Amino acid sequence: MLFRELAEVCESLASTTKRSEMVRMVADFLACLEPEEVEPASCMLLGRPFPKTSRWRLDVSWATLAEVVLRITGASQRELAAAFDRTGDVGAATAILFHTARTKHQQLFLIRPLLLLEVHEILRKVARLSGPGARRRRERLIEGLLNRCEPLEAKYLVKIVTGEMRTGFQEGLMELAVARAFGVPFKAVRRAVMFAGDIAVVAGVAAKSGEAGIKSISPSPMRPISPMLAQVCNEIEEAIEAHGGTTNFEYKLDGARVQIHKRRGEIRIFSRRLSDVTESLPEIKNLVLQELRADEAIVEGEVIAVGKDGQPLPFQSLLQRFRREREVERVAKEIPVRLQLFDLLYLDGRSLVDCSYEERRERLKTIVGDIELTEQLTTSRADLGKDFLERALRAGHEGLMAKKPGSAYVPGVRGKLWLKIKPILEPLDLVIVGAEFGYGRRHRWLSDYYLAARDENTGKFEIIGKTFKGLTDEEIKEMTRELQKLVIRQEGRRVWVLPKMVVEIAYNEIQRSPKYPSGMALRFARIIRLRPDKSPIEADTIQRVRGIFERQVKRI
Ligand code: AMP
Repeated sequence: MLFRELAEVCESLASTTKRSEMVRMVADFLACLEPEEVEPASCMLLGRPFPKTSRWRLDVSWATLAEVVLRITGASQRELAAAFDRTGDVGAATAILFHTARTKHQQLFLIRPLLLLEVHEILRKVARLSGPGARRRRERLIEGLLNRCEPLEAKYLVKIVTGEMRTGFQEGLMELAVARAFGVPFKAVRRAVMFAGDIAVVAGVAAKSGEAGIKSISPSPMRPISPMLAQVCNEIEEAIEAHGGTTNFEYKLDGARVQIHKRRGEIRIFSRRLSDVTESLPEIKNLVLQELRADEAIVEGEVIAVGKDGQPLPFQSLLQRFRREREVERVAKEIPVRLQLFDLLYLDGRSLVDCSYEERRERLKTIVGDIELTEQLTTSRADLGKDFLERALRAGHEGLMAKKPGSAYVPGVRGKLWLKIKPILEPLDLVIVGAEFGYGRRHRWLSDYYLAARDENTGKFEIIGKTFKGLTDEEIKEMTRELQKLVIRQEGRRVWVLPKMVVEIAYNEIQRSPKYPSGMALRFARIIRLRPDKSPIEADTIQRVRGIFERQVKRI
């Protein structure tokens, strides 16, 4: 299959908002592919080069890509900025420059057309590069690819590399398309996705071995499972009621979620986003290896950083452990971490995801050895729940989780079976979409940030506030470096960037305000911490912000 044909499908997807139409188009396309083309094509249609669970990372920033685009097309920065202004989209802006270049130099594009698998192979090569000179070689490979692109292909290649597909076709629709293309039940597809971690992997299996193939995908050690998530709940009473009169409260620790897989002598630790973080946490790896009484298991828990007195440290300290690639041992000594487990998903040959909360917890108790479990309280009494919350907060934790009695582990779902209770005005996870250079000491740094929430319906990021508070000078410097790689447009001392960086924001209230199109603005917003563990798609939505705003109004 030609890469151009994939680009054409993407273009058709972008031109309709009808979900059934999108599913049909993609299903028809997938059904025409060779089985080995299905996984890469599915990834690309969703705007990523590889499955989420893959170890490959492209590490090509928009800044690098923009340089390559300008070199190939001979366009200027200003022309690129103008194209971006017209379209609001990096891919579409690239296509405009490619069109103009084509009219100028016809011969540029009379080259052998790109195959879909060829593009995939080259992107894999790019991801495999490391060590000195890797950046240059990466750039050259991408330049080689873009050089062979027609405008439409360039548009979608840029979108795949930057992860900014924006055709409106998302994972849920892809699941429907895969079911339809390969004649397999939708439920089986959904379930397989939770265990395989990515619909593209499931699509590949469905293409090669049909229903039997996807039904055989089940939890298995060393393959990360999408984590079960929790909905927000405001009060202890509300949680007890939502769970039918009794619930299981657990301390909610303010750390990083880990899913730990053990198979005989081997341990792998996955983050909430399913990336492999084993090397960052050597002492956790050793602890589990020594203590966990099972040949094969998948357990889940939270890792927190602790100070000398054993009290939890802010999440920010913990982040330093995850960012490390070198000197892991030294940093491990400086910032000790503690593991507390709360779930068991697989044990010695058997998946436990369909077992009840109680059974999973009981079995977990029997195998943990000296590893700690999260504090737990089963109760139907709100007063006891409140005391428990007080104790959690006094011990330096974030709040409570409430888990419904008898509930299964539902991977990848943010439902009501798990509720989270955090007592303060809920911080928001927002995305930085722009920034301004500061004044005085900060005049070279991007230190004032535009914060946006995602609109669930349109996928657009809506600005709801601005802040220059909360980061240290070091963090601001690093933020400046990161944001500069994402710049799409500069206006004087202000830049607009691709929505990639998620930050957790505290604020005093949400005000009605004409300042932004959303009609709302955060008062006294400040950054609590960076959230590199969250993707922009997981950031809070404008709908949620509106919900908080409305509750706030009611309370007054
Ligand atoms: P949030 O990240 O705000 O959606 O809150 C859910 C997160 O809380 C989970 O992904 C875990 O990382 C974390 N967490 C802390 N304590 C627990 C617990 N006892 N059970 C489940 N998740 C927990």
